[in-house]
Amino acid sequence: MLEALKEEVCEQNHELPRAGLVVGSGGNVSGRDPESGLVVIKPSGVKFAKLTPETMSVVDLDGKVIEGEMKPSVDTGIHLYIYRHRPDVFGITHTHSPYATSFAARGERIPAVLTPIVHLIGRDVPCSRYATPGEVDTGQAIVEAAEGGYAALVKAHGVFTMGKSATEATAVAMYLEEAAMTTHLAMCRGPVEELPQEEIDRCFKWFRHNYGQSGKKIVSA
Ligand SMILES: [Zn+2]
Repeated sequence: MLEALKEEVCEQNHELPRAGLVVGSGGNVSGRDPESGLVVIKPSGVKFAKLTPETMSVVDLDGKVIEGEMKPSVDTGIHLYIYRHRPDVFGITHTHSPYATSFAARGERIPAVLTPIVHLIGRDVPCSRYATPGEVDTGQAIVEAAEGGYAALVKAHGVFTMGKSATEATAVAMYLEEAAMTTHLAMCRGPVEELPQEEIDRCFKWFRHNYGQSGKKIVSA
């Protein structure tokens, strides 16, 4: 079941080490099937290189395993909390990518100073309160901090990004890490100037209508 979604989620999990966003088996990507509402997610503790579409776990929104021989990711409860509270989200990516997580380590947001990330998420990257890892508490902290947006840092933990698909959520994670690195480097040289909200709104709207071949997507797949 859900063969296309399993392939997409598997492929996007493979993107994480390729993009240098994860080490070992840390980090995960999931996707939600719009018709059945079922969620495909990385199995727990499996190295990315070993992942195939057949090894993906399929769970319902209550966490019941519907298909897959391996235990789903330890972060499944977090992903499911977000899906239950964000009907607009169909893909979630979680990493501990170093530059973005260095902001999370300090409990700081990433200010909106660069248009390439503002294009995608339309705001700064907020940082949540501290939350217990792997628990619903983390899901709650993300939903609160994101305020309907597509990304949030979790204090003392890492990065969660969201999208209309697993592919979009992973693309946001990649651009977010690049923006975190560049912003960090700029901040080493002195104060940075945040873009005015009016310009952020304009950038976000413009990009959604003009980027890629079909427009009206957060990012190009
Ligand atoms: Zn984590």
